[in-house]
Amino acid sequence: MSAPVDETERVTEAAERAARPILLTVDDDPSVSRAVARDLRRHYGADYRILRADNGTEALDLIRDLVLRGEQIAAILADYRMPRMSGIDFLEAAMDLVPDARRALLTAYADTNAAIAAINVVDVDHYLLKPWEPPEEKLYPVIDELITAWQAGAKRGESKIKILGHPWSAASYEVRDFLARNLVPYRWHNITDQESQRLLAAAGADVASAPVVITADGRPLIQPTLTELATAVGLSTQPLGDFYDLVIIGGGPAGLGAAVYAASEGLKTVIVERAAPGGQAGQSARIENYLGFPDGVSGGQLTERARRQAQRFGAELLTARAVNGLEPRGSARQVQFDDGTSVLTHAVVLASGVSYRHLEAAGAADLVGRGVYYGAGAPQAQACAGKQVIIVGGANSAGQAAVFLSRHAAKVVMVVRGDSLERSMSSYLIEQIRGIDNIEVRLNTSVVRCDGKEHLQCVTLVHNTDGTQQVIDAGQLFIFIGAAPLTDWLPQGLVRDQAGFVVTGPDLVLDGQRPRGWDLDRDPYLLESSIPGVFAAGDVRASSVKRVASAVGEGALAVTLVHRYLAEQ
Ligand SMILES: Cc1cc2nc3c(=O)[nH]c(=O)nc-3n(C[C@H](O)[C@H](O)[C@H](O)COP(=O)(O)OP(=O)(O)OC[C@H]3O[C@@H](n4cnc5c(N)ncnc54)[C@H](O)[C@@H]3O)c2cc1C
Repeated sequence: MSAPVDETERVTEAAERAARPILLTVDDDPSVSRAVARDLRRHYGADYRILRADNGTEALDLIRDLVLRGEQIAAILADYRMPRMSGIDFLEAAMDLVPDARRALLTAYADTNAAIAAINVVDVDHYLLKPWEPPEEKLYPVIDELITAWQAGAKRGESKIKILGHPWSAASYEVRDFLARNLVPYRWHNITDQESQRLLAAAGADVASAPVVITADGRPLIQPTLTELATAVGLSTQPLGDFYDLVIIGGGPAGLGAAVYAASEGLKTVIVERAAPGGQAGQSARIENYLGFPDGVSGGQLTERARRQAQRFGAELLTARAVNGLEPRGSARQVQFDDGTSVLTHAVVLASGVSYRHLEAAGAADLVGRGVYYGAGAPQAQACAGKQVIIVGGANSAGQAAVFLSRHAAKVVMVVRGDSLERSMSSYLIEQIRGIDNIEVRLNTSVVRCDGKEHLQCVTLVHNTDGTQQVIDAGQLFIFIGAAPLTDWLPQGLVRDQAGFVVTGPDLVLDGQRPRGWDLDRDPYLLESSIPGVFAAGDVRASSVKRVASAVGEGALAVTLVHRYLAEQ
């Protein structure tokens, strides 16, 4: 193949290949192509090889060649408007070949809207407007960000963690899901394959020991708890201190938002997260309506950035550590963890969000992790390839999952209890779903039964108005049917509404009466609970708006109120 590489590249070919990652630019206009490559080379030439191609087909050939040679592509910059293959189609195809490479689209101003509309359906990190002069302001900051994100992924990619498990075991699924959600890469082995047998023998274990995790330094962990696993892969599970200014319970958008503001404003802060940072948002394939991301952002990316930001400001993050007790101790608050240990703090932000409601269908509970899943993540998406899958639910989260899974599955059937999507889903998503051929929406329909021996094999649907039943084959069923707060562990004196959401601020003052046990000479602050110094932010709060932006905003506001509270102490 005649690689469409730059002249400089050809001359110094062999030497240049010495492990420098690649920045690839694709543009059918030779003058633009040369100009982009020149600007990139000027700034990044010392550390990166700059390659260019004249069209999408050539670029895909080049990428295939590079992949075969084991070379690394850090970022790809493609023109939106190219005659044979558009930038969108090219980037979508490139994504399959080099999923870790970061992607940006170059557009003319006139094409901005079309580009944004189109890139909502492909996972592109940025779009850049032509002309990009001066590059110091308009080009390099974007490329820097792409490179940083790629480096973070590449660094994680060095890990050699192996999971040996049964493909249809709930415990094996839990281990995979935990590592995936914490962005820890792993290599999955079916416990019955040859490599597993070799590793099991070396570890003195057998098939009954599954799941077995072999850490990067070769240590076998047999059926580890999530906390053991987190510690073994280098995630923090124990607090460094025993007294904090602020303990944040929950590492979703509200918790991470609070952590960024608290830590950046000098408060000694720890976030305690029972599973993985990101919360519900971390499981969203694409968040379209978060300010500052006109082309949408995946929940994983948003979480990764927020986590890095919070930790850069000095916030501690504990993972796989649930809080199960909270008690006032004089002017301090004691936060107790699930292993019986505890820390003291001046103030608490409760940001524990909500958890998925369970599907009431016969057989569903037994098949969780074996074809039945709450939410949908990348590992499950890969397992859907070429199959029919079912999504239960008709709100935005279900819609996003349908769009996401339609790229992997042969067919996606959306089972919706209501008689229209319009009642529960944003119109932009409805439009997208209508434009995707392999998504079928079944309204007025519920799942009544899930069947399968080792794993899910078929699902019984019932039509809610005429009662007719139909059994359809499906290897995977993903549930998105709303959520409830898990707040039973909070002390009795902390007022919640009937559904368990934490009541705050003015809602606690009824007929001029402050809540029982409230001993301060002021009303509770806007986000303060009925225990002074304990604030609630995000979805866990009664009457909150269930959105990423509002959760982040409440996290920030809670910190302002924490400062006000601390000033009174
Ligand atoms: C699939 C999906 C797609 C979505 N898409 C969008 C969208 O496009 N736009 C939008 O605006 N909103 C979207 N939402 C809603 C949005 O994600 C939520 O409103 C937001 O995540 C709420 O943030 P939060 O921090 O309050 O709670 P959560 O995100 O629920 O996070 C709470 C965290 O607390 C942890 N936790 C709970 N209890 C404990 C405990 N006892 N100890 C320690 N940790 C605990 C949980 O593990 C979790 O990580 C979506 C939701 C889902 C499920």
